[in-house]
Formats: sequence, structure tokens, C-alpha cells
Amino acid sequence: MTAPAAPRLVHRTAHIRLRVTRRQAARCYGLLRSAGDVWAWLLDTNRQRHQRAESTIGNYQELCRQLTSAGPFGELSVTGARSVLQRYADAWFQAAKRRTQQQDAGFPRRKRGLVPVRFYNGTFTIHGQRVRLPVARGRPELWVLAHLLPYPPEQVRAVTLLAEGGRLWLAVTAAVPIQQHDLDPGSVAGVDLGIIHPYAVVIQDAGLLISGRALRAEAYLHRADQQARQTTAARRAPKRGQRGSRRWRRHRARLRRVEARHRRRVHQAHHEAAKQVIAFAIRQRVGTLVVGDPKGITAQDAGRVQNWRLRQWRRTHLVQALSDKAELAGIAVRLVDERGTSSTCPACRQRVSKPTGRRFHCRHCGLEGHRDLVGARNIAAKAGGGPTSVGLPTLVEHRRAGILPARRDRRRHLHDTQRRRRSCLASGHPPDDPASGGCRSPRVPDLTPGEDQAALPNRANVA
Ligand SMILES: [Zn+2]
Repeated sequence: MTAPAAPRLVHRTAHIRLRVTRRQAARCYGLLRSAGDVWAWLLDTNRQRHQRAESTIGNYQELCRQLTSAGPFGELSVTGARSVLQRYADAWFQAAKRRTQQQDAGFPRRKRGLVPVRFYNGTFTIHGQRVRLPVARGRPELWVLAHLLPYPPEQVRAVTLLAEGGRLWLAVTAAVPIQQHDLDPGSVAGVDLGIIHPYAVVIQDAGLLISGRALRAEAYLHRADQQARQTTAARRAPKRGQRGSRRWRRHRARLRRVEARHRRRVHQAHHEAAKQVIAFAIRQRVGTLVVGDPKGITAQDAGRVQNWRLRQWRRTHLVQALSDKAELAGIAVRLVDERGTSSTCPACRQRVSKPTGRRFHCRHCGLEGHRDLVGARNIAAKAGGGPTSVGLPTLVEHRRAGILPARRDRRRHLHDTQRRRRSCLASGHPPDDPASGGCRSPRVPDLTPGEDQAALPNRANVA
């Protein structure tokens, strides 16, 4: 029971990379492997019960009673083993619930080598940046270093030990009180999500554009790297039924590691961008963010390149990052259908053909402006809330999110004017082009109008 004056709490989880010695890492992996054993034991007992025509156990309490009869699982404490039971029971009931709703859902049946272990409040200790994870009775204490713990220790409710992309992580869940800001509940801002600009925000006479250049560069370079890796390793691929070579398995592990790193970089950039949107909204005292929901945009076929761009956009995470941070700041979020918002004039409400670049021009009333800000203005108007000025904001802030990769996109070698030899993976020239000779390629100092129209108007964001 909380006192009536207590602020509302929301739960937030952050993944922190663990700093561990070799010995600590071995013990952590031991815990995860033991949790995998518990998981496998659960699957096996339930399969045997199924074969004996007995009912399957999905209930947590019942599973706990069964666990006492099973042997000890390595260094895993009882609380740790029970968290695996909880995970199983949750998955089981989730599937059962979806099946009663006539949805397609499978009960957990796949065995895993490493299963995350969750430790609830009171079973672990946080001391500065060090965290003590519970282990089986009689074993030496296990302390790990969780650098940059983002929450004060008294707010932390649970920690989960997990391995991802070849690294050990601690998912720290905390109950964070909702911040109190001086907001105007009637003030509504429109947010347009995009690939060129992850977020474009408009409120009255102010606007915010966040550049997605770093995100796009990261996506292109990552794709090129992964393709190059797969091309070189393809001949080592095992045949059907054949065990992969050690080099092949190392290659697979590398792919997973690089994929995880890419995902982290994209998510980090999204969080940075969303943080800037929320800071802007608080400065402008925005009470409600109206977000154009691009749901269903991948349902239609938009061509090979655009399909790929849409799929690596990760718009669900983009929406989630924004609404999580907005909730924490006490700002309401509303999702509206964004269809037609980039092809309607905000001033005269007439249909205008979708602009090819970033420049929006209305041939009916002559309004000119940034395409994404026009979209955001229309999205705000769709929600109908708050007074909306028809013009476009005069004051537009430009921000960046994410870190530009140190390497350049190799497509830019096409535009190199200086005739010099560069060592690069691909020249961008066809191999039979005698003028180019491998990597020698022209060079322009400025940004290149590359594969998309968007590259040029984006120059404003780089300034
Ligand atoms: Zn117009």
C-alpha cells in the first residue's frame, strides 16, 4: 500500500554490460547453463507426463513442488531456479491464453543452452557499482561489476543475468517515479516518424528535426560488412547433416556478435533522439505528443531497396522509446493514423502530390516548407487537440542522434575526384572499367547526392 501523496511509479529496464574477471565470467555462464538445465528438465518432465497421458503442469506453485524432487542445478540458487520456473509458467499461460482466443501459439518446447536468470528484490545486493548475485548455499559469494548503473540502488526491483552476442549483461529493472514538470495539458505537438529524420516535431511556432544520418550510415555499412562476411564464408558452410567446421562456427558466432552490436547502436541512437524530443517538449511545455503511427507500412511491396530501408528502420522501437520517455516525463502520447499527412497542405487542406525531396510545396496556396515538419503539423491537426497555427514554424532546431561511423560508406568512393589508390573492400566500379582501375575513383569534398533524394536537403542537419 502506498501513501496517497506518493508519486506514480513506472518500471524501466536498462541493460548494463558486466565487467567480470575470467573466473567470474565462468561462474556467470555456469549459472546460465544451470538455468538451461532447469529449463530442459521442465520440458522433459512435461513431455513424459504428456506421454503417460497425464496433464501438463504450467502452474508456478506446482512446478516449485516438483523442483524440490529434482537434483541441485550447479551453482544456481533456489531463487534463481524458481525464476526459470516463473519464465516457463509465464510462457505456458501466455500460450494457453492465446490458444483460447483461437490464436496460433506454441507452448515452450525448445531447449536452450543458456537461459536468463532473474533475481528478485531482496535476493541480490547492490553495493556501489558492485552487485552480489545469489548462488547456491555453501558456494562462495559472486560479486560482479555493473559499471554505470543508471538507477539509484533503492529503486532497483530486479536484476536479470543474461548472455547476448557473446557478452554478459545485467538487465536492471527499477521502479522510477514519474517526473513533475510544468506542462500545459492543452498544448499538443505533432511528431512525424521517418527514416531521414527519426523524429520531426512541431509545436506552434517551434520545430525540431533530428537527423538520422548516423543511423542510415550505420545501417548501410553494417549491411555491406555482413554481406562481405557471408560471401567469404559461404564456401565453408556445412552440407546438410554435416557438422560445421570450427571456422564456420566461429564465423556464425561473429555474425551474431556483430548483429547484436548493430542492434545496440541503433537502439542507442533511438534513445538519444527520443531524449532530445522529450527535452524539447518539456522546454515547450507540451502536454500531449501526437505521433503518426506508420503501422502497416511494410505490408505493401515498395521495391527491393525501399523494402529493406523500411524493415531496418525499426519503427516499433522508435515509437516505444518515445512513449516510454514521455510517460516518465508525465507527457501523454497518442498514436494516430499517419496516412495522407505528407501529401496534404496544412494551410489549405488540399491534396498535394508527395514531394520527392524534403521540400514541400503547395501549388494551391504556395506554402513552402520542410516535408517532415508539414507531416508533423498535419498529424497534430489530426488529433484535433489544441490551437494549431496553419503556417510552419519559424524556429527549427536541428539535432543529431547516434555516432557517425568512423569509416565512410564505400558508395562514396564513386564520387572521389582525387586519383589515388585507396584500400577498400569494394570500389563501386564494375570490374571491366579500365578508367577506374580498382579503387581509384573521383572525389568530391561534400556530401554526395547518393541513392536517395534525401541526401541533399539533409545538408542542413549537418551544419
Ligand atoms: Zn496549400
